[in-house]
Amino acid sequence: MVVLGAGSAGEWVAGGVADAGGSVALVEASRVGGECPYASCIPSKGMLRSAHVREDARRLVELGGASAAVALDEDEPAYRAAVRRRDVLSSHRDDADAARGIKRRGVTLIRGTGRITGPGVVDVDGRQVGYHDLVVATGSRPAIPPIKGLDKVAAWTSDQALSAPGRPASLMILGGGAVGCELAQAYAGFGVAATLVEAATQLVSGEDAAIAAELATMLRGRNIDIRLGTEVQALEATADGQARALLDGGSVIETEQVILAVGRTPATAGLGLDAIGITPADTGARRWMRDATSKARPTCGLPGTSPGPRRTPMARTTRPRW
Ligand SMILES: Cc1cc2nc3c(=O)[nH]c(=O)nc-3n(C[C@H](O)[C@H](O)[C@H](O)COP(=O)(O)OP(=O)(O)OC[C@H]3O[C@@H](n4cnc5c(N)ncnc54)[C@H](O)[C@@H]3O)c2cc1C
Repeated sequence: MVVLGAGSAGEWVAGGVADAGGSVALVEASRVGGECPYASCIPSKGMLRSAHVREDARRLVELGGASAAVALDEDEPAYRAAVRRRDVLSSHRDDADAARGIKRRGVTLIRGTGRITGPGVVDVDGRQVGYHDLVVATGSRPAIPPIKGLDKVAAWTSDQALSAPGRPASLMILGGGAVGCELAQAYAGFGVAATLVEAATQLVSGEDAAIAAELATMLRGRNIDIRLGTEVQALEATADGQARALLDGGSVIETEQVILAVGRTPATAGLGLDAIGITPADTGARRWMRDATSKARPTCGLPGTSPGPRRTPMARTTRPRW
């Protein structure tokens, strides 16, 4: 078997096949472990925990933890300490331990970018690797919205927002899903003026409206400016290096840093799926799985790669079907 992508899904599948005595090569272009340990779940939860502890410490007397207020560090040193902890939790983005672990289980790890060149063959940076069964577990990338002027301003995706050493004075997050809400809290907890702009009329669309309303109240209580039912029409750079966002309805926001959290795009472009007769469906995970499994029997897409909900446990528990 060849597994393309060593994220939560690919590592799980390849490790399981090797444990069962199968012969399996795992192809990874970047880090073994994928985004979760280094660029998403772990660093975001690390920063959230630090921000929440800081907030609780401010309310220590009210919460019954102390009879007198405790002195907290200023935002800047506290943020730097949180970043140090974040970087330890995410292994300083070093996958050496994960790579050793997967090899110890008997998986052949091939570093490089894989591309399907025809039935039964994957090219990894010029090296031809044959397969009987193929698992496509290449995950997703942050979606980049087509906003006029985006290329003229400082804009991060969640990857940069969760690896940057410093904090901006102000930021505007586009997208009020789980990622946008987490990043807003993580930064606002350290004194960053955060604005969250969401085109839908509620946060975390798809969740119950009452829960979303409660979440908005909670975030506003943490000094996060939330603009619902609002879209950014255009962005421009100001003379002093800020980003100016022109919102529909005519209002304007000036901010130091823009963060894009408008969803993720399956990382299937350039994979060569067409060489084995597969067109990734954009209509949902199930359809893509069905197409993948029926058109080219040994091939399987996994949730991280398919459109639809993306969570590490889902990536880890979906079984390839063939
Ligand atoms: C900010 C943020 C916070 C999150 N927090 C949580 C959370 O708390 N809980 C949770 O369950 N989920 C969370 N998620 C979602 C979770 O990170 C993903 O669902 C999960 O990591 C997806 O795993 P995956 O294996 O499908 O993809 P990935 O982890 O993206 O792995 C895909 C791998 O494939 C590699 N690759 C791509 N193309 C090629 C190629 N051609 N050749 C070789 N290798 C290739 C990539 O380099 C990558 O390592 C979060 C996401 C974000 C963005």
